[in-house]
Order: sequence, then C-alpha cells, then structure tokens
Amino acid sequence: MIEIKNVQTMDGRKIDYEVKGEDRVIDGSGLVLIPALIDPHVHFRTPGLEHKENWETGAKAAIYGGITTVFDMPNTIPPTITLETLKEKKKLIDQQLKAVDIPLRYGLFFGADKNHFDEIPKVKDQIIGIKIYMGASTGGLVMDDDQSLETVFKLAAAHDLVLAIHAEDEKMIQEREKKYHAHGEIRSREVAISATKKALALAKMNKTRLYLVHITTKEEIELIAQAKKEGVTVFAETTPHHLFLNVETSKEQVNPPIRTKEDNVALWEAVKSGMIDTIGSDHAPHTREEKKSGKIPSGVPGVETTLPMLLNGGLSLNDIVRLMRDNVEKIFRFPKNDDVVLIDLNKLAKVDHLKTKCGWSPFEGRLLKGWPVYTILKGRVYELVS
Ligand SMILES: [Zn+2]
Repeated sequence: MIEIKNVQTMDGRKIDYEVKGEDRVIDGSGLVLIPALIDPHVHFRTPGLEHKENWETGAKAAIYGGITTVFDMPNTIPPTITLETLKEKKKLIDQQLKAVDIPLRYGLFFGADKNHFDEIPKVKDQIIGIKIYMGASTGGLVMDDDQSLETVFKLAAAHDLVLAIHAEDEKMIQEREKKYHAHGEIRSREVAISATKKALALAKMNKTRLYLVHITTKEEIELIAQAKKEGVTVFAETTPHHLFLNVETSKEQVNPPIRTKEDNVALWEAVKSGMIDTIGSDHAPHTREEKKSGKIPSGVPGVETTLPMLLNGGLSLNDIVRLMRDNVEKIFRFPKNDDVVLIDLNKLAKVDHLKTKCGWSPFEGRLLKGWPVYTILKGRVYELVS
C-alpha cells in the first residue's frame, strides 16, 4: 500500500490518501494530489521514426509530465493502417515499456486509408479511434477525396468509433504552395477553417462522433459552437503551443501553424468555457538537426511540459483535470484508473533536462512555477528528480 500523508486535495482539504501498490510512505505535506493526466494526442514515433522518439524515452517524458496514459497517432513508418501493422506496433511498444519498467497506459489511433477500409471492422475493439489526415503532415497519410471521407464517417458511426480529424484542406494546401513560400501562408487559417467546416457537415450528416484535433482559430471555435448547438456530437482539442505561442513571439513550424494573438485569446476563452473539450500536447518530436535543415519538418515535443505550462498560464487544477482526464475518459470511453500525481505548486524550475529523445522544447528556458514531483502509475511510485 502506498500511503500519502498530509497531502492537499484540489479543493484545499488536508488528507491522508492510500493507493494500492508497493509498500511506501510518502510525505505529502506541501503537495497537491490530482488524478494522473491523459494526453490524448502524442506521436511516440514507433515504428520507423525512432531516431526522434520511442516508448522508452516517450514514457519517461510522460511520467515527468504527470501523464500516465497517452493516445498515440498512426503516422509512423509503416503507418498503422492494417490489423497486422497494429499488432506489430503493440508488440514493439510493450517491449520498449518493459525495457524501462514503465507500464504506461496507452490507446492507439488507427489511420484511415482508402485501400484498407476492410481493416476497420477487424481492429475496432483494439483501437481508441480512427484518425483521418484531411491534409498531409508527417508520414504522408492523407485522405482528400470526398467519397473516401464519407465512407470513413459512415464506418466510424456504424462501429461507434470516435473519428479524430486533422482538419487542413489538402487541395487548398497544394494550390497555395504554388503561390506562397511561408509555411503560415501555405497552411493559412482558411485552409483549417474549410476542412473543419467539411468535417462538421459530414459528422452531422452521418451522426459520427467527431474529435477535432489541434483547433487553432477563432472561426473554428465559432463553427464548433454552432455545431454543438445543433446537436452534432463533436469534441474539440487544442494544444499548449497554440495557446501560448503566436506569430509575433514564435517561429516554430507546426501543422496547423501558430496563429495570431487574437486566436490565443479565443482559444483560452474556449478552454475555460468548455467549448474546447480537451488539451492534447500533439507531442511531435523531430531532432534539432532536422529542425535546422532546409526542409523543416512540422511539429514540436510537449508531453512533459503541458501540465506546468498550463499551470503557469493560470488554468486551475480543476480545469486541467477536466480537460486532460475527465473529458478524455468520457469521449473515448477509456476505463478509469487510480493513478495519481503529486504537484508542488511552489516549485520553481526552468524547462530543462528534458526526457524526450529529441532533447528540446519550444518552451525551453522558461522559468515555471508548479511541477509534478511524484507520479504513481499502476501502484508504482516514480519520484521525479531532474
Ligand atoms: Zn498530431
């Protein structure tokens, strides 16, 4: 039994708390207890891109971020688009988690591919949801024709699966590539708004449970608000980098791009009001060398900095738990567990000593107040020392 003495709850009570697991007593004085968080959007890069990340480093980074569950995306090499590739990926993940002795909980998204629709019924009980890339990103999984899109919306609805969408309009991207050079111009806000509009219409028509990943613009939030009002089953996610960074303060290249200050404000409002349902890190590591190369890949790491960044952004622990635990469990029907995290709200530390394999962060060097100091996963205590 893990006994946590004299710890504070989110509503300010002092309690002694017990978790099933190894025999250990933890002095909880000065610490706050919260349920461990779920990151619904990571790219741990196994298989095929393991020079950027794998589940040994990714799991360690998650634990250091107060996260004990991650949902991983299918744009690996090979992509996760068949029962075979799904099984192989699971095998590799389990081996890697075993090697570092971190039994991280995870769910896997299955990539929608027009040549493999018949695989969906075969995998439906083994996946957390289906993922569609309406615009190409890392890995080149893309679905941009209306007929295939409609087929997947129907299949997801028929099998009662959550359909996660990367909403950027591929045809518009290709058109704009001929005219523009800057990443933010090519993947302009109109590119995202157009795809989000289409996804919402398809979800409405087919009664699909839609999950829009990394929402970035004010206009998309308005579209989502309207759709929710009309009874469409739609959930929206945003990311720390889209909340904290904008074109005036950052040159980070991500898909969809960093937007304006005004969008930051709109996203924060939507996060607080509940119009945005979840926060996912979209942890998408690339090496420093790749990020400095001529053809810059899109994506930034984030799994270990999300919790401290949100705390420093002024989000309450209750809001963080709602966005990164309760809502995620509900949307994806993910089983509840008794994992917890102990946070020292007064701990001051710079973003540094990163555990992700890529070894950098868009928030590197920021002095943040409030860090997790213990993560308890499946009855095991991980003491977080940097
Ligand atoms: Zn992603």
